[in-house]
Amino acid sequence: MTDAHATRPSRDPLTGLPDRVDFVDRVGASLDRGAGEKRVAVLVIGLDHFKMVNDALGHEAGDGLLETIAQRLLWALRPSDTLARLGGDEFLVLCEEVGDADHAHELAAEITDQISRPVMLEDGEVFVTASIGIATSGPGATAPALVRDADTAMWRAKDRGRARFELFDGRTREGAVDDLRTGSALRRALERGEFAVYFQPVIDLERGGVTGFEALLRWRHPERGLVAPGEFIGLAETTGLIVPIGAWVLEEACRQTARWQEEAAPAPPLTISVNLSPRQLAEPTLPDDVARIVRDTGVHPDSVWLEITENTLMVDAESAIGVLQALQGQGVHIAIDDFGTGYSSLSYLKRLPVEALKVDQTFVDGLGRDAEDTALATACVSLAHALGLTAIAEGVESPAQLAELRTLGCEFAQGFLFAEPHPAIDLGERPVETLGTWAGLGAD
Ligand code: C2E
Ligand code: MG
Ligand code: MG
Repeated sequence: MTDAHATRPSRDPLTGLPDRVDFVDRVGASLDRGAGEKRVAVLVIGLDHFKMVNDALGHEAGDGLLETIAQRLLWALRPSDTLARLGGDEFLVLCEEVGDADHAHELAAEITDQISRPVMLEDGEVFVTASIGIATSGPGATAPALVRDADTAMWRAKDRGRARFELFDGRTREGAVDDLRTGSALRRALERGEFAVYFQPVIDLERGGVTGFEALLRWRHPERGLVAPGEFIGLAETTGLIVPIGAWVLEEACRQTARWQEEAAPAPPLTISVNLSPRQLAEPTLPDDVARIVRDTGVHPDSVWLEITENTLMVDAESAIGVLQALQGQGVHIAIDDFGTGYSSLSYLKRLPVEALKVDQTFVDGLGRDAEDTALATACVSLAHALGLTAIAEGVESPAQLAELRTLGCEFAQGFLFAEPHPAIDLGERPVETLGTWAGLGAD
């Protein structure tokens, strides 16, 4: 490993290796030295299923494993190569003066061999594999682009079954452009912690103040910035990734809410509403998973609401009844989301163990302005009450809509009039005991 360019070495504390920032500088320096004539290769090495080892054996064992792997990688490299740690379970290699792509392939094969040898830890032997992405420099290459391309190739290797290496090529680039349309990008987002939960306050229209929050998923995409769920939930659903993503959202939301509840005690516990997708509802383990998350996070079970859209419930209403009963048996509550946009059968609605209807924002939008919308919103609130359910209005944006909802006797409301969804940290800046009586919330 060369240290010639370590004028400002920023290092990874665990392994003592250069970190990403330092690595990119070194790649840049190497490209400058080669002046576009000598080829440089960047490898991104991602350990497969490292999280499982870490979860099963604990963080200390996980750290020990990473240190051993770092040693082995150093051993496999030439003195002129640079090894760095990208963070988590990922490493970077800069290979100067590679003859051709075959050379980079040979190196990747050597690294694969080194990593797949068993690692001895205190609790016994562990086997790990790695997915490796390789990018080599062409004319006009830049350091950040090379690292990004190698990273894209690494995710392609994971996508193609892991424990393999992939060379970045034009087709990989096409895939990268379409990042939002690939399942591997979603998997990467989950593994790298690119998802975030935002919280939108739910307002108690009778008593005033915040009664709780709805958890709404966001993707902090490294290049595209904040991405709304409308752009990726569909893909998460078709790839099945919504199951782990949804479990993550529930856990994050419950953990944060438990914190607020503890800080605000003895005030009544704030509620938390989490959206469930059809795919999650079809998972036989859902009730047990929910019970485990509620128990582990310490959130008050009685304060957890799960939101399910009308159509999801009606596709197979008979089995939905069973699942909802099992969920209710765990002490959580069920609300029907986007009510009025689907095709509920009233006879099923009566039998479903739900406790609230969320009036869709398309009806709230025209409240008091459009006769048809007003009639439909009125019908939704009346239906909720006729069935003994609570009504929650979504997408309230104006004082006029709020006034209409109050006249209708709608119990709760959410919308930009009160607050947009925020990361917990923003809400946390408010003294938690004031959350329940958050002033300026559109009270008339
Ligand atoms: P939803 O559950 O009906 O959530 C309400 C949506 O309306 C949110 O959009 C929220 O940001 C937006 N909204 C709130 N107040 C207003 C308002 O006053 N005006 C307008 N125009 N919009 C308002 P978002 O966050 O983009 O979520 C869209 C949908 O994505 C959600 O609709 C939900 O169906 C789905 N979703 C969000 N997070 C998750 C999740 O963790 N899991 C699953 N399965 N679905 C989720
Ligand atoms: Mg919802
Ligand atoms: Mg909704």
